[in-house]
Amino acid sequence: MATHLLYQTAGYLSEFQSRVRSMDLENRLIELDQTAFYPGGGGQPCDFGMIEAGDVVYPVTRVRKMGDLVFHQVGGDAPLPEITTSVRGVLDWPRRFRLMRTHTALHILCGVVFRDYGALVTGGDMEPLQGRMDFEFESLHKDLVQVIEAAVNREVEAARKVNVSILPREQAFQIPDLIRTKINLLPEGIAHVRVVEIQGLDLQADGGTHVQDTTEVGAIRVVDYKSKGKINKRIYIQLQE
Ligand SMILES: [Zn+2]
Repeated sequence: MATHLLYQTAGYLSEFQSRVRSMDLENRLIELDQTAFYPGGGGQPCDFGMIEAGDVVYPVTRVRKMGDLVFHQVGGDAPLPEITTSVRGVLDWPRRFRLMRTHTALHILCGVVFRDYGALVTGGDMEPLQGRMDFEFESLHKDLVQVIEAAVNREVEAARKVNVSILPREQAFQIPDLIRTKINLLPEGIAHVRVVEIQGLDLQADGGTHVQDTTEVGAIRVVDYKSKGKINKRIYIQLQE
């Protein structure tokens, strides 16, 4: 049975109760019946934190999704908890919240660049408080960087709400704005599509975690850009602590 992904609907959950469903002793992996740990994906790195089982604390050093299941890789050398043990998960919240702000900042950037220049995103990556996005953006030049930075910060200050919904595939496919984010690349078998909307600015099929309101992102600096060829351009951003 699939792991219940608490972070999909409760992005601000930093602690949770769960039960051990299976483990891989050799690789020190623990599978839980539900988790708030983001396993990484869509450019957002996985969460860190700890899993507590009674008096034993296991540092979570990596989280990954394999098929429908989320596995928590733990450090230390304490024997792993037995199957069905009740445990508490605690995220490294400062790191996760920075990633939520950074991820939302990248969506603001991509919404602004599409709205103002019609440029499509081809990829992206992030670390806490910094990220980059690649665009098909032939007309990008140096002077535009400041214009884009100002436009992005206007959207931060506009306090736009960020809404998450999980829609049946057919319904999601009828939203014209979603098509540009390559929703058609989603595997056939996926029955539901998680949609992240920055109200009035950006709409994407997305599995990541985001803040609820753009003001939580804080000021965004566009720190650099690079040409990756005539058409492909990469824009780098940085957030404040
Ligand atoms: Zn995203």
